[in-house]
Amino acid sequence: MMSTCPFRVGTGYDIHRLVPGRPLVLGGVTIPYELGLLGHSDADALAHAVTDALLGALALGDIGTHFPDTDPRWANANSLVLLGHTMALVMAQGFEVVNVDASILAERPKLAPYLAAMRERLAEVLQVAPTTVSVKAKTNEGLDAVGRRAAISVHAVVLLCRSAQRLPLSPDQHREA
Ligand SMILES: [Zn+2]
Repeated sequence: MMSTCPFRVGTGYDIHRLVPGRPLVLGGVTIPYELGLLGHSDADALAHAVTDALLGALALGDIGTHFPDTDPRWANANSLVLLGHTMALVMAQGFEVVNVDASILAERPKLAPYLAAMRERLAEVLQVAPTTVSVKAKTNEGLDAVGRRAAISVHAVVLLCRSAQRLPLSPDQHREA
């Protein structure tokens, strides 16, 4: 029996290694820094954590099953495109985003100057106002891999609400839909 409660909550977590010779992309924003995140796609840990939170809210699996890192289509992919595919799935299930809250853990660089741009990029893809997308940044107090500047990790939570109508998913929006 389908729940009459209109809300679904999901959490997402991601971590990528910081290495030389890669761009640092978070929330679709390229940040000037001597290191970047290593991954099959652009390794945008913020976009990945939010994607996993969306999928988790609707119990649709995780980012690895939808966008496997063995698939050449996602090599160096813009992760906002992956997030957009996932948002299309959410809308096809009859849901919309109420709000997002994310925390980036990074010892360096200072991310404060870029947080507003990240919120705007994410909000555009999620089809909500930037005021409903929170992106926070903090250090790991020098502890663990994040504290050694060997990695950046992200935690994210999303709340979804059933929307008035289901939007049809076009066949090209997602091959697994
Ligand atoms: Zn990732």
